[in-house]
Amino acid sequence: MPQTFAIINQKGGVGKTTTAVNLAAWAAIDGRRVLLVDADPQGNATSGLGINRRKLDLCLYDVLTADMTGGPPAPASEVIVPSCVEGLDVLPATIDLAAADITLASALARETRLRHALVPVQSRYDIIIIDTAPSLGILTFNSLAAAQKCLIPIQCEYYALEGLTQLLDVVRLVQTQVNPSLRIAGVVLTMYDGRVNLSAEVAQEVRTNFRGRVYDTVIPRNVKLAVAPSHGQPVVTFDRNSSGSKRYWMLYKEVFDNA
Ligand code: ATP
Ligand code: MG
Repeated sequence: MPQTFAIINQKGGVGKTTTAVNLAAWAAIDGRRVLLVDADPQGNATSGLGINRRKLDLCLYDVLTADMTGGPPAPASEVIVPSCVEGLDVLPATIDLAAADITLASALARETRLRHALVPVQSRYDIIIIDTAPSLGILTFNSLAAAQKCLIPIQCEYYALEGLTQLLDVVRLVQTQVNPSLRIAGVVLTMYDGRVNLSAEVAQEVRTNFRGRVYDTVIPRNVKLAVAPSHGQPVVTFDRNSSGSKRYWMLYKEVFDNA
């Protein structure tokens, strides 16, 4: 059984995709077999790993809904594509995935479709990382139902803690209703700017609120992390010696050596 992690926070732009892509890339470079599931219709993880979304015929949407839309079955194995990093595959998202919330609204077992879809490909991977959308909709429920652990990136900005109560309520709901073994792996502080007092204050506040559950590794604000996706690469291959790359290596070790 692979370790399956969902990267969640319904707040937008906090570093979910950056964290998912770069943890996945480091894990693959470290020799693990990795699948990144793009459960966000924005498809940032897909394009950030060098996959041209417009050239894809199938995506996660087809895997989740094939039986409902009358189309041919779309097993995950036929939809998964390789990425620009050896050992890292992607179950991609195209804009089609935007219809998932509506299509799945009336579906049977709508929260556990991703979990079931991943079963046939599980033995191929050591680690599965699911990048989620900034919402608490059906796709995020599916992601949490399919995961053993969730990892919550929190941006070191004002309002960082806003919405976290609701997020934790959803995690609890999934635990009681569909996935009792789901655990919070930890909180990761992102976009930390050492020159700004606010970053340190927010980091302190998060550590107080999530005592013992915040990773020691803090991800700094680093321009290479922001530029790498426009080259269709994780920062690890784009500029391995950048501070962003090095910190994601440290985070990778911290998350997966103890997992
Ligand atoms: P969404 O909720 O829209 O999916 P997200 O939580 O996945 O967003 P990202 O896409 O990872 O967030 O990051 C938001 C933006 O900030 C992106 O443009 C990304 O390149 C940039 N970014 C992320 N982390 C950093 C960082 N540590 N330093 C600098 N820029 C960053
Ligand atoms: Mg994202």
